[in-house]
Amino acid sequence: MSRAWITVLGATGSIGVSTLDVVARHADRYAVFALTGHSQMAVLEAQCRQHDPLFAVVADAAQAEPLQQRLQATGLQTRVLHGVEALAEVAADQRVDVVMAAIVGAAGLSPTLAAVRAGKRVLLANKEALVMSGALFMQAVRNSGAQLLPIDSEHNAIFQCMPRNYANGLGQVGVRRILLTASGGPFRDFALEDLAGVTPAQACAHPNWSMGQKISVDSASMMNKGLELIEACWLFDARPEQVEVVVHPQSVVHSLVDYVDGSVLAQLGNPDMRTPIAHALAWPERIDSGVSALDLLSTARLDFQAPDPQRFPCLWLARQAFDAGGTACAVLNAANEVAVQAFLDGRIGFTDIPVIIEYTLNCLPPVQVEELAQVMLADRQAREHAHRWLANRA
Ligand code: NDP
Ligand code: MG
Repeated sequence: MSRAWITVLGATGSIGVSTLDVVARHADRYAVFALTGHSQMAVLEAQCRQHDPLFAVVADAAQAEPLQQRLQATGLQTRVLHGVEALAEVAADQRVDVVMAAIVGAAGLSPTLAAVRAGKRVLLANKEALVMSGALFMQAVRNSGAQLLPIDSEHNAIFQCMPRNYANGLGQVGVRRILLTASGGPFRDFALEDLAGVTPAQACAHPNWSMGQKISVDSASMMNKGLELIEACWLFDARPEQVEVVVHPQSVVHSLVDYVDGSVLAQLGNPDMRTPIAHALAWPERIDSGVSALDLLSTARLDFQAPDPQRFPCLWLARQAFDAGGTACAVLNAANEVAVQAFLDGRIGFTDIPVIIEYTLNCLPPVQVEELAQVMLADRQAREHAHRWLANRA
């Protein structure tokens, strides 16, 4: 069997590292075409030494030159490229079979779309790309015949519980509802009046998952579940009322599909992203991911609760944005990215995050989307409005 060439966009991040862990377990199946990083050059250099990619991509020339020299000095042939066009090139190169889209945030949209348009097997971790460009993204998948496989643990679980022909329409294949599980994050049981004063370190200390900072804050605010609700609607062509969010603190049931005959199929496992990564890499085969077997006896309990709208306004803002349609989800996403960064920088409190998002959504009535330029414009305008809120506040 010839090896599949893989590009890992966002190799230096949490998902990127887990992806390379799985890839390294299957050197007979996968060869690394390109790895990309943004700020962590030492991590990228070590990854290049271990995986010997044809290309490494960094943000700018000032990073590229020293990395190229260091790699050459040890006899590696890896070529170091830089800039956003280079990200799209290593995603779309005709030699590439699989692209892991694991850049965080809107920065991942253009290389992820490049991979989709080139008809690759695209492993989608970068949910923000799909949230921003929804209909255009899915149309690009259909046009190119790309294989889109979800990495988000919930969506990967739903995919595993869906019948193969779900693209015919959920009603046609007997699916009644999708049950999207959420851990509730670190503040699930926090006193509401204390939420305004929580620190970035507290927000990033997720009880079950180890993840990058941005998604950790999104999990704490439940904007992550809002983005995932939108993601589920696009991936599975579901209406929002067909997706029910259920808080499940143990993060063992990764999501469920409810059928009209009363059957509910769930996917369970230890909370470790190597499971969905290995699933999507090898699908429809199964390969070892390095994740230990689930011990149901030590799990003992599986609890389920309804999400609290007062505690998690971001979830409802996301739902409203999806209902509003057009550019609203791009605006929601951009405002959230600015707000989360401001929170991580200590400029605002945790409870200011939904305030900034709601303000920005009110500033920019949704526009119907015909082309990507409108999405990018909405993203830029939303960032300007959110920054204006921050400036006025200061
Ligand atoms: P991390 O912050 O750990 O990693 C982000 C990656 O993107 C890093 O490689 C980073 O490079 C790179 N990056 C950051 N900014 C830019 C930019 N402007 N241009 C190019 N590259 C950039 O995030 P995660 O791995 O946690 O998350 C990645 C994506 O996967 C997100 O969309 C997240 O929502 C999604 N996801 C993550 C899960 C998880 O368990 N971590 C679970 C489900 C989904 P560097 O580090 O070198 O700066
Ligand atoms: Mg998830």
